[in-house]
Formats: sequence, C-alpha cells, structure tokens
Amino acid sequence: MDTSKNLSQVIRDRMKQDNKRFWAGDNISDYVDDNVKPELISEATAAFERVLDTLLIDRETDPNSKGTARRLAKMYYNEIMAGRYDPAPDATAFPNDSADRYEGMLVVRSELRSMCSHHHQPVSGVAYIGIIAAEKLIGLSKYTRIAQWCARRGTLQEELANDIAREIAKATGAKDLGVYIQAVHGCCENRGIMAHSSLTQTTVLKGAFKTDPGTKKEFMDNIKLQQEFAPR
Ligand SMILES: [Zn+2]
Repeated sequence: MDTSKNLSQVIRDRMKQDNKRFWAGDNISDYVDDNVKPELISEATAAFERVLDTLLIDRETDPNSKGTARRLAKMYYNEIMAGRYDPAPDATAFPNDSADRYEGMLVVRSELRSMCSHHHQPVSGVAYIGIIAAEKLIGLSKYTRIAQWCARRGTLQEELANDIAREIAKATGAKDLGVYIQAVHGCCENRGIMAHSSLTQTTVLKGAFKTDPGTKKEFMDNIKLQQEFAPR
C-alpha cells in the first residue's frame, strides 16, 4: 500500500480501478466497512476543520464550534449518508406460493429523510410503495428499511424514486409496482426561492401499474386513503 496516500484516496483509487461509480447516491458498502470507518471519520474531521477555518469561524474559542468538525464527520458517515456505506438491509423473504397465496395489492407508507446532492440540504417526506404480491413476501417494516437505506444518501428525488423501485423489486421479486414520493426540500425552503410550502411529487410505475389503468387507479386511491389518515 502506498503510504503517501490517505485512506480515502486509496479507496477512491480502488473504485476507479474497478470502474465502480461512487456518486453521492451510490452505495459503496463493498469498499467501506466498520473497520475503516473510524479512520475515514478522522480524515473527514480534519477536512471539515479546514472548511470551518476557511469560513472564518473561530473553532478554538467558540465553544459551540469546537467539536463541530468531528460532529459533521460522524453525522455524514453514520447518519445522513449511512445508506452509501451500509450494506442493504436484510429483508428475509417468505414464500407466497401456496394455493391461498395473497394476490392483491399491498401499499406501504414510509417516512423518508434524505439530503439533496446539489446543496446537502435536508429533504423530508413520505414514500408510498405499492406492489402486486409475487412469489415472495417480505416483512412490512422492511419496505421502510429499504426506502430509508436508499434515502440516506445524497439524492435527487427523481433518482430516489427509481432507486426505491429497483430495490423493492429485487427484494420482493415483484414486477408490478409503483413508488410515489411527496417531499419538501430544504433547497427550496432555506435558500434561493425561500418557498416554505413547496412540495415535490414523483411517481415511478412498473408493469401493470404502468400498463393497466385499473391497477394505477387502485394505487392512487390507496395513497389518497392513506393520506386521509396521515396527511402530509
Ligand atoms: Zn439542492
């Protein structure tokens, strides 16, 4: 190993060599595990210290800014971007292939907390995930775990809807599915247009959700019913 390089450089080089994409919304858990995280957090702490210095914030005497660099480094790795570094949540599947198998639609509402990759501003909202049950079923809480795992990265809402659809399809084997996300963006609220009530909606439809108007209507009606109970 080249000792003149720090750990994050070594890992970046390895990903480039493997042609592994490492955009803000990509999962790179094959390259980062719990053994290397403490060193990466230390490196990020030093880098955030330099950012605070350049912002002319006195982190030596301001008691509130003293530990900020390390808090930021830990928050990025362990919380707001954890979905980049953690492997996919374990979603044990149960067979749904007996004579009395469930063939209906299932719609799960999942709270989402994410961050826009352009400005690193918070995104908060809710995803409605609908599937027509296939040969496997997963526990209801797993839908939210998968959605959160996709959300806790730097994302765009359009990209996030696609990511959730792909990962739910992988975990359930469902070909017919829909993902509808409604979210407010810190980007719009805290900067630029300062719009406090702007809401963004994105919809991804696959299989029957896309081709069969009846299925699509049932999904949208389910969302409206859910919203009556938990308005957003
Ligand atoms: Zn933004």
